[in-house]
Amino acid sequence: MRLAGASEIRASANLIADARRQAGARPGQLARVLVLVAVVMGGCTRGTPEPLPSSAPARPGFVVLSDVDPRIRTDIRYATAHNFVGRPVDGYQEALCLLTAPAAEALRRVQDAALAAGRSLKVYDCYRPQRAVDDFVNWSRQPDEQATKAEFYPLVAKSELFRLGYVGAPSAHSRGSTVDLTLVDVPTPAQPGYVPGQPLVSCTAPRDKRFPDNSVDMGTGFDCFDPLAHTDSSRVGGTARENRRLLRQLMTDGGFVGYDREWWHFRYRDEPWPDTYFDLPVARTSAG
Ligand SMILES: [Zn+2]
Repeated sequence: MRLAGASEIRASANLIADARRQAGARPGQLARVLVLVAVVMGGCTRGTPEPLPSSAPARPGFVVLSDVDPRIRTDIRYATAHNFVGRPVDGYQEALCLLTAPAAEALRRVQDAALAAGRSLKVYDCYRPQRAVDDFVNWSRQPDEQATKAEFYPLVAKSELFRLGYVGAPSAHSRGSTVDLTLVDVPTPAQPGYVPGQPLVSCTAPRDKRFPDNSVDMGTGFDCFDPLAHTDSSRVGGTARENRRLLRQLMTDGGFVGYDREWWHFRYRDEPWPDTYFDLPVARTSAG
């Protein structure tokens, strides 16, 4: 999904002008042009994202990560209200981590290495359906809806989240081999539940002030849309810098590629569907 740009709006205007010029033409011709205009303008005015052209197979071979490795913690934020849109995201029917089988197997090997280093992995998001990405896009088009700004993008304008690369459309997550994750201690401390409406604290606040995630200190919370979350931010030092370095080393050794804007985001390098964006819901029925 791309956001409609000025060139597309100009193209729509040109199509309308063309339709008017052809008003004296054969009725069938005009109807076809008007249908085309309606399709193009629909993407601009209703806020309905255009579907991605896709040759997606019906069954991409997803697995449930907890079936492959029950040792890896899961904290699927988009199935809850504790995320940057402030409610469960479209398509997250269950709080599950679905991944392609090769990515899940690679993550199991990373977990072995993490445990050897005295830590465990905890995933925040895995496969993300296209409809969830569309939900993000529609949310971005509501400038007055800023209920979660205080925690998730305290210093960045909502209108800039896509341009600055914090939210992507289309998203690599929809290809089924990209994961958002962190490290937790072993044994893993309990994590208080998020209560909708509770006061929000900036994700850039010190660890003992921000939401009490049981993650080791990574310098920011998850989905913190701020330069402080850039993986190599020079403003992050000490333990948090070491923790980011360890996560990146473990994931890189395991065949994943990081992202410089988000310390938590990794793509499996040998992903089996590098050009296919899936829209199956996040549910056990989508595995297999
Ligand atoms: Zn991600």
